Amino acid sequence: MGGVGSGVERSLERRPLATDFLTLDVRALAHLLDLRFDCEATCTWAVGGELVGSAGMKAGAGLMVLSYQFTGSDRLPSKVTASIPLVWSRCTLGGERPWFLCPNEACGRRVAILYCGANLLCRRCLGLAYPSQRETAGARAHRKAARVRQYIEQRGGSVDHNFLVRPKGMHRQTFLRLRVVHEHWMALYFTGETRRLEAMLKRLESM
Ligand SMILES: [Zn+2]
Repeated sequence: MGGVGSGVERSLERRPLATDFLTLDVRALAHLLDLRFDCEATCTWAVGGELVGSAGMKAGAGLMVLSYQFTGSDRLPSKVTASIPLVWSRCTLGGERPWFLCPNEACGRRVAILYCGANLLCRRCLGLAYPSQRETAGARAHRKAARVRQYIEQRGGSVDHNFLVRPKGMHRQTFLRLRVVHEHWMALYFTGETRRLEAMLKRLESM
């Protein structure tokens, strides 16, 4: 795990984000269509009600073929056609669920989501990072602490200047444990912020 400004975080900084790509989720498709039988559909992607992409999809006999147009950073559109093998696994509560096998033969991982880029591949093959992986240690600690505060507030408690007030009905031990967790993340957040500000001051002094 990398600390603030560590090499790990710097390398993640250069990686494209998973959220920058249009995704194809086999669970969403299986919710609408029975992919075990021949079917055909047009998949569309919308952001804020505006159409941002579409793809033609055909499935059947354990295979899905997807065709779409991709515009890369060179602004030149290219047509992408990919054949994706489908497999099914048993669910614990009965029934079966489908999975994609990553179309990259060297990978072939069983995944739920594929990313529509110049090739249709899994997150690992495209070297994509999740937004949370780009966070600094301080930002991550701040997010974790905020989640505890939200949990307390949702259960009728309150938060006064980072001081948590126990919700009525919450067991005292549970509350104390949450307070310790919150203090832990806040301490990490302040340590991270202090280091970040010190580094910033050093840079300013050297200018
Ligand atoms: Zn892959």
